[in-house]
Amino acid sequence: MSLTKKILIALFLGVITGLILTFVPENIYSVLDTYILNPVGQIFIHLIMMLVVPIVFVSIVLGSAGLGDPAKLGKVGIQTISFFLTTTAIALCISLALAYMIKPGTEGVFNVSAADYEASEAPPIMETLVNIIPTNPLSSMSSGDMLQIIAFAVFVGIALALLGKKTLGMYRLFEQANEILMLLVNIVMKTAPYGAFALIASAIGGAGLNAIGSMGAYMGTVILGLIIHAAFTYSLAIWLIGKGNPIQFYKNFFPAMSVSFSTASSSATLPISIKTAQENIGIDKNISSFVQPLGATINMDGTAIMQATAAVFISQVYAIPLDFSDIIMIILTATLASIGTAGVPGVGLIMLAMVLTQIGLPVEGIALIIGIDRILDMLRTALNVTGDATCAYLISESEKRKKAG
Ligand code: ASP
Repeated sequence: MSLTKKILIALFLGVITGLILTFVPENIYSVLDTYILNPVGQIFIHLIMMLVVPIVFVSIVLGSAGLGDPAKLGKVGIQTISFFLTTTAIALCISLALAYMIKPGTEGVFNVSAADYEASEAPPIMETLVNIIPTNPLSSMSSGDMLQIIAFAVFVGIALALLGKKTLGMYRLFEQANEILMLLVNIVMKTAPYGAFALIASAIGGAGLNAIGSMGAYMGTVILGLIIHAAFTYSLAIWLIGKGNPIQFYKNFFPAMSVSFSTASSSATLPISIKTAQENIGIDKNISSFVQPLGATINMDGTAIMQATAAVFISQVYAIPLDFSDIIMIILTATLASIGTAGVPGVGLIMLAMVLTQIGLPVEGIALIIGIDRILDMLRTALNVTGDATCAYLISESEKRKKAG
């Protein structure tokens, strides 16, 4: 049986098991989760996390060295960031329109007085920008600071390209390291069905049916936004700009989507999404190596959709009307918040505090959605990762056409 089929079956069984677990007494669920589901899921996450830093570093060095000319690298960088910003803006418009049409915050009865959430401070923007350049690349690697690792790898890649033949031995070494890492991804992927099953059963069982039921309208609005963005924005881009078949694209990319869904982490999925994009979709290696790690760090359309929907939802629950300037503010801050969201589980919700504070909404509102956020996190991460691959595909196809023409 193919890996995709196995993962599909695991996802299905994970959902069913999770739903069954919502009916068993809390203490039984907790024993099953502590001793079986959580450890199995965590082993899978550790296995792939183990590969993230080396793969990001090696593949970006190879990608930027392979693109050769720093001017070309700059052009790909500008195209990538333009695509990321445009699709995030579209995602925000879709989710705001849906949130105003469906009005999820006026549907149920919400216990606002019980809501309690302590927000943490978002770092100032200038500091974040300056910090992209690491003062100690080794410490960036050991702490897994993605933007710093990317910056250092780009510098090393450019140096390799400029030194050319002189550093051919080093270049080959990076190529061999890449081969080793890709083989490891293959081996780790064999455990994906078990990891996916355990993570999904644990997430659904942990949220509980009551929470899922009372938050149904909010969850539905977010999920609809995610589906529309994938089905229209990305599909149209793949079809019209990339001249490809969106259905085939999603089919080929499915293993990466399923892993992002079960781990709820764009970063952890990187090894698999890079490999799937290069081998199943045929995206140019240099472009995928550069675009996907950058996307996994700053491009989060799914997260932006959740943040905009949540802001409108909280304003409706607390009956605080938002005017046009608030809506513009949501678009601006949710774009920044999604860029600043790290590709790990749950950070999108923490960054939501920044959006709420900017428009003067109560940060305690986050407490209302925290219980079911893991399930939405899984879905939005799948969209986040798909957006990165879509961008890499479009740039790769346009480069191929340029070469052919
Ligand atoms: N879990 C998301 C990701 O890794 C980020 C978030 O929205 O929390 O892409």
